[in-house]
Amino acid sequence: MHTSSSSTPLKALTFDLDDTLWDNSGVMEATEHGHYAWLDKALLEELLPDNDLTDPLALGRFTERFPLSAYQARRREVAGREPLRRGDFTWVRRQSLLELLEQHGLPRQTAEYWAGAAMHRFMTLRHELTPYPEVDAMLAALSQRYRLGAITNGNVELARLPLARHFDVSIAAGEMLAPKPDPRPFLAALARLASRPSEALHVGDSWQHDVLPAQRLGMRVAWIDIDGEAPTRLPRQVYRLDHVRELPTLIEWMNGKN
Ligand SMILES: [Mg+2]
Repeated sequence: MHTSSSSTPLKALTFDLDDTLWDNSGVMEATEHGHYAWLDKALLEELLPDNDLTDPLALGRFTERFPLSAYQARRREVAGREPLRRGDFTWVRRQSLLELLEQHGLPRQTAEYWAGAAMHRFMTLRHELTPYPEVDAMLAALSQRYRLGAITNGNVELARLPLARHFDVSIAAGEMLAPKPDPRPFLAALARLASRPSEALHVGDSWQHDVLPAQRLGMRVAWIDIDGEAPTRLPRQVYRLDHVRELPTLIEWMNGKN
C-alpha cells in the first residue's frame, strides 16, 4: 500500500466546486425556479403595446403555455440535438429559452433579448451560494503551501466568488466542451499548475466525475462521500472523507508518510 507514488510530495490540489466546497442543492433549486419566474413576470410587465407586437397580451402568459417542465423537456431535447454542446449548460439553457420565446410569438431579436436577460438573472442567482464555513480559511492556509486549481462541470464562474483569490487556475470543463469524466480538464489544470499527476490531489464528491478520472490519471483523490456510499474497497490512492473540512488532516497524514 505504501507505493512510491504515494510518497511523492504534493505540489498541487485541484477541487471540484458544487457539492464539494458548498451544498449546491438549494442553490440550483432556487436558481432554476427563480430565473424562470423572473422571466415570466418581466414579460408580463415589459412587453408593452408600443413595441413591435400588436397585442402582447394576446400571446397569453408565458409559463401557462410553457411551464417549468416544458423548459426542462426542451433542454433535454436541445442537449440531445447538440451532443457537442450538451456539456455547456449555460448555452443549452439560453438556446432553450430562445426557442420557447420564439414559439411563444416573440420576434427573433426580442426573444434573444429576453433569453439573454433571463440568463443574466440565472447567473446572478447561481452565484448566491454559501461555501461551507471552514472553506475560506482552509483554502487560504492550503494556498500558502500548494498551487490550487478548480475543475467544474457546472456554470459557476469562480471569478465571481470571493473564494477565487485562493486559486491559481480555474477550468470550466463544460464550456471547454470536455466535461468530467473526460480527462482533458484534469490534464489542462495539471499543465497550468505545472504539476505531474503523481504530485497532485483532486478533491471532489462525484465517484464518476471526480474520483475515477483523477485516479486513472494517477492523481491522488480525496472523495467527499456526501451520500455515505463508499464501496468496501477503495481504489489505490483514493481516500474517503465525510466532509471537505477533513482535508487538512488527510494532507497532514499524507505528508507524514513521506
Ligand atoms: Mg460536485
